[in-house]
Amino acid sequence: MLDATHDAALRSWVESANAPDSDFPVQNLPYGAFRRKGSDEPLRIGVAIGDQILDLKLARAQCPWGPGVDEWLAPLSEGQLKPLMAAPAATRRLMRSALSQALAEGSDQAPFLELCLLPQAQAEMAMPCAIGDYTDFFTGIHHATAVGKLFRPDNPLLPNYKWVPIAYHGRVSSLGVSPQAFVRPTGQSLPPGATEPRFGPSQRLDYELELGVFVGAGNALGEPMDMAQAEADWFGIVLLNDWSARDVQAWEYQPLGPFLAKSFATTISPWIVTREALEPFRAPFSRPAGDPQPLPYLDAPANRERGQIDIALQVLIQTEAMRAQGVAPAELSRSNFRDAYWSVAQMLAHHSSGGCNLQTGDLLGTGTQSGPLPGQGGSLLELSVGGKQPVALPGGETRSFLQDGDTLVLRAHCERAGARRIGFGECRGTVLPARAA
Ligand code: MN
Repeated sequence: MLDATHDAALRSWVESANAPDSDFPVQNLPYGAFRRKGSDEPLRIGVAIGDQILDLKLARAQCPWGPGVDEWLAPLSEGQLKPLMAAPAATRRLMRSALSQALAEGSDQAPFLELCLLPQAQAEMAMPCAIGDYTDFFTGIHHATAVGKLFRPDNPLLPNYKWVPIAYHGRVSSLGVSPQAFVRPTGQSLPPGATEPRFGPSQRLDYELELGVFVGAGNALGEPMDMAQAEADWFGIVLLNDWSARDVQAWEYQPLGPFLAKSFATTISPWIVTREALEPFRAPFSRPAGDPQPLPYLDAPANRERGQIDIALQVLIQTEAMRAQGVAPAELSRSNFRDAYWSVAQMLAHHSSGGCNLQTGDLLGTGTQSGPLPGQGGSLLELSVGGKQPVALPGGETRSFLQDGDTLVLRAHCERAGARRIGFGECRGTVLPARAA
């Protein structure tokens, strides 16, 4: 599965890509949609390299490309990522290989492609493609257990959890690309001790540290994907913040699950890190002793060997006061996607198992990724133990839940001996005050 594009020694002629802490070395090559900041140009597809973007519209026009590559560059140069997302794995590898060679040190395309770079600081990022459907899973068992304890102390993990990759259908219209600012939601909640609900701005606004998976070709209605198809059919991964109004959620979630508590905003990072780029960071999938094995439709040898992905995750916060004083964002927690209870392939296989058709560009949230230890919660609900133990921040502030002006930053990277570190960029969002009543 590994090829020359993963060679840790490979360097780029784009110097910033060679910095050891760059998220976007030549081994990464994530896709995103962008335009020049402040312009109303049509969106273009680009590839992040160091602190630059390779503009694929200009790149197609500036120099010749190898056999078979131009036909795939054509839709990309028109701002369309979906044809490549739906393409067979061999095509995705062909494009990765072409881009890797073009951006590698010593490339004879370099003199032409130098003219096709735009600094990321001068770009405005957009949704990488039109998303048809968004589904949010619940694969973080440590999150499910910790939150379950708060809602149901004697029955934290419901009996279906270890059998079914649980999910709900989310809202596409309120998905946004980092950096996103959104208005604090207003909703119905039942205050502690009250007998009747109130309606007003959420007082328990929270974030959720997640990843988002983009579907590749998808499946026809009534024709579920098996695990092998599911593993081959996801295109790539972004960071995802599933902003959540906990007071609204607690009152509305039974019996049909989250609704308005999560439909007001969801932020994703702009660069899709491809399945191919993540190859060196795959890890075995296993169940703890005593837990049930996945049912046969969710099991496959390849999933057991390498179903998981080692992605280190981090959440940071910068309050308005910190920003005013020039204090850098402070870390709230760290965790790893390797600890997820269900793999990406299992999410796709389960989603399609009843006959539901997944479509190119559909987005699947992984659910909050919390670590096993206290302090590794992927939400404030967990870190503050339901609001009872406020989290201390630099400068003496504390947080049980988010306040207006708070900015949350999600980051992720993959690291392994013998491989080049790659990163996801960041997923940044800021809470604006609720609309005046
Ligand atoms: Mn979620």
